[in-house]
Amino acid sequence: MGRTTTGTPSEAGARAEETLAHCRDLLRRNGGRCTQSRLQVVRALVEAGGHLPARVIHERILADGGSLEMSTVYRALERLTSIGIVHSLTTAAGENSYGLVAEPHHHLVCRDCGAVAELPAARVDAMLPEAVDLTGFEVDTVLLTGRCPRCRA
Ligand SMILES: [Zn+2]
Ligand SMILES: [Zn+2]
Repeated sequence: MGRTTTGTPSEAGARAEETLAHCRDLLRRNGGRCTQSRLQVVRALVEAGGHLPARVIHERILADGGSLEMSTVYRALERLTSIGIVHSLTTAAGENSYGLVAEPHHHLVCRDCGAVAELPAARVDAMLPEAVDLTGFEVDTVLLTGRCPRCRA
């Protein structure tokens, strides 16, 4: 504990269970097995409450007593991405940052360190019709850039 950024530990726990159940379901429907490594990756992302680079996911799994190889983490992320449980964002730091698709969100990316924060889609989407009217773009994602609290400090 202590690194959950959203909700109380019990809320995070309930969310983790829900997301894991969803993950099992999707993997099964896509003919994949819900392996321990895939579940550990999903759990690390649920607990983070946002995007993480693969190496940080790996670090957190090890800190939780897991013993996955980095290559296993990459394979799990690839599989989870291909079936739409996880998506990735390439940051200015040149690193892929992975997040769960389950909760619709847009992204805020730190231009210095590449940290990614998620913006709940509901609020942001409310302004999209106007943006579409103004520009004629078909919008699929909103990306804001700036400096994260750590880099601002
Ligand atoms: Zn995302
Ligand atoms: Zn930063």
